[in-house]
Formats: sequence, structure tokens, C-alpha cells
Amino acid sequence: MPSYVIDEKCDGCKGQDRTACMYICPNDLMVLDVEAMKAYNQEPEFCWECYNCVKICPTQAVDVRGYADFVPMGASVVPLRGSEDIMWTVKFRDGTIKRFKFPIRTTDEGTAVPDGGYPEGPGDLNDQNLWTEPQSGGFDVLPTK
Ligand code: SF4
Ligand code: SF4
Repeated sequence: MPSYVIDEKCDGCKGQDRTACMYICPNDLMVLDVEAMKAYNQEPEFCWECYNCVKICPTQAVDVRGYADFVPMGASVVPLRGSEDIMWTVKFRDGTIKRFKFPIRTTDEGTAVPDGGYPEGPGDLNDQNLWTEPQSGGFDVLPTK
């Protein structure tokens, strides 16, 4: 089931030009209705339920059905993001609540090195190499057939 916004909880990120859910969605699915100051998923059929919008929303206003391997039918799951970890709260059909905390980083905030220390690649969008390839792939040149 794709993500959906719970209107009562959404404050439109207090009128920012680009809301948190708009910023994070890899498919550019989230948009803000500036009249109502509520966000919504404009193309639910293209949502791959990645949970990014759910995790970044500062008011826990976005919901997605939890995957069956950790949230049984009828249960809900709500993440609360901190700087070091996310606290997941799962509420089961019978009212039982379980919480688990999951770390979200392996480096201190602001210290991650985007290129991983590898030299930049050709930087040409038409080139077969990605940004730090071929060195980050362990090659001097990209193998060809
Ligand atoms: S991130 Fe949450 S509060 Fe902000 S616009 Fe999206 S749904 Fe609303
Ligand atoms: S769950 Fe992922 S793909 Fe779906 S709207 Fe949210 S951020 Fe976009």
C-alpha cells in the first residue's frame, strides 16, 4: 500500500517551499497543497513504499502499511527519527505495543565522505562510469565485452 498523509497531523512543514517529504521522495511523489497546507502523494501507483517520507516527517503525518515480515495484518508502525537512530513503535491488533530502536549511521553526523576517498570519475553523464568509477569498482578501466 502506498504512503498517505494523515491530514490532521500534517502542518505543511510550516509553509516551507519544499517540505521534508517533497525533499526526500526518490520518485518526486509528494506535493504540497498550498491552499490547505497539507501534503499528499500525487501518484500512489508509483510509490515503492520505501518509507523515506514516513521516516523524515517531523510530525509523523505519513503512514505506509508495514511490511508483513515485521508488522502483522492489522498492526501499525510509526517511526520516530533521532540523530543516531530510529525508534519504531509497532501497535498490534490486540493493543500490544512493541518498540525497537535501530541505528541509522556508522559515522558521526557531518563526517561522511561522499566520494568514499576515491578520485572523481569523468563526470560526464554520457560516460558508462558512475561518479567514482572505475576506481571504486576496483578497476583501472571499466571492463568491456
Ligand atoms: S513532511 Fe510531514 S508535516 Fe511536512 S508536509 Fe510532509 S506530511 Fe506534512
Ligand atoms: S514511500 Fe518512498 S516512494 Fe512512496 S511517497 Fe514516500 S518517499 Fe516516495
